[in-house]
Amino acid sequence: MSSLPATTLEDMVRHAFAGARGRVSAQAPLGARTWFRVGGPAEWLFQPSDAEDLAGMLSRLSPELPVIALGACSNVIIRDGGLDGVVVRMARGFADIAVEADGLVVGSACLDATVAEHAAQAGLAGLEFLAGIPGSIGGAVRMNAGAYGADIASVLDWAEIVTRDGNMLRLGNAALRFGYRRSGLPEGAMVVRARLRGTPASPADIARRIADIRAARELSQPVRARTGGSTFRNPDPEVSARKAWELIDQAGCRGLRRGDAQVSEKHCNFLINLGHATAQDLEALGEDLRQRVTQHSGVSLHWEIKRLGRTQGTPA
Ligand SMILES: Cc1cc2nc3c(=O)[nH]c(=O)nc-3n(C[C@H](O)[C@H](O)[C@H](O)COP(=O)(O)OP(=O)(O)OC[C@H]3O[C@@H](n4cnc5c(N)ncnc54)[C@H](O)[C@@H]3O)c2cc1C
Repeated sequence: MSSLPATTLEDMVRHAFAGARGRVSAQAPLGARTWFRVGGPAEWLFQPSDAEDLAGMLSRLSPELPVIALGACSNVIIRDGGLDGVVVRMARGFADIAVEADGLVVGSACLDATVAEHAAQAGLAGLEFLAGIPGSIGGAVRMNAGAYGADIASVLDWAEIVTRDGNMLRLGNAALRFGYRRSGLPEGAMVVRARLRGTPASPADIARRIADIRAARELSQPVRARTGGSTFRNPDPEVSARKAWELIDQAGCRGLRRGDAQVSEKHCNFLINLGHATAQDLEALGEDLRQRVTQHSGVSLHWEIKRLGRTQGTPA
């Protein structure tokens, strides 16, 4: 199959998968894997065995085909029509954690909370903020995840990435050009491993700080709901001194509903799926919020949640 000229889209994808060791599935449902529990299928889902397997597949995949990595899907709305092209999910081959004297080297599929717990057990402070963020390390690097005054930019030494054309590179912190809830990861690149710094401290003190962070979150966020985290980025301070949730609250939108999509009563920068919301309901509610906030305060909110894929019924 790999020697066939890649003339059709399907041939191109099959060419890329020929020789891959990981799992490939066509029309793979994604909705159940997302925190919001919405969204259509991946046209192709690839779960590489390890970084070399991923690099090989990307080096064979024609540059015109869309490809995207997904992590724990805690910051995405996957639209109801699903994702065209190839979706990459890293799992077992990307879940190693190596503890070093002043940091941890962690695979991209490790959950942030697991990394925080390993750091605590090893007596390494500084990574407690990860305990309350429900994503994976890959998503955390991509989004520069942060909380309680710390973020990935403040603890990352380097990240290993596979570029869209299949090259493996190690990038230092500066090369990743982190900003507020974003990174300058090269277009189409996927994070496979990262080194995060920690400072030696008492494991009991670190465990206490983690418990405090978790308790504070339970009080202030709908952490047990079907949600996607902060919907909108906080505005730049020169645009507004108010946070996104305050602007939404002041525009009278707390609890606003569209079908089964609702603005959380607990934290109004969170949207929640009450049970049967579609991606379209959630996205339309978010757009409604943006309009109401602009009318009320003149501030334009920008989505933090990544909205990916095609709306239902639009052609591939
Ligand atoms: C209840 C709740 C609370 C939250 N609290 C916080 C918080 O306090 N602070 C905060 O920053 N965020 C928070 N979030 C949002 C979310 O957890 C973070 O943005 C997280 O870093 C996303 O990681 P993920 O693995 O789920 O990424 P996904 O949601 O799967 O993907 C997010 C983006 O990262 C990209 N991506 C994922 N994996 C990779 C990879 N390996 N390589 C390259 N790109 C990749 C995706 O393509 C997508 O663009 C919260 C979310 C929820 C549901």
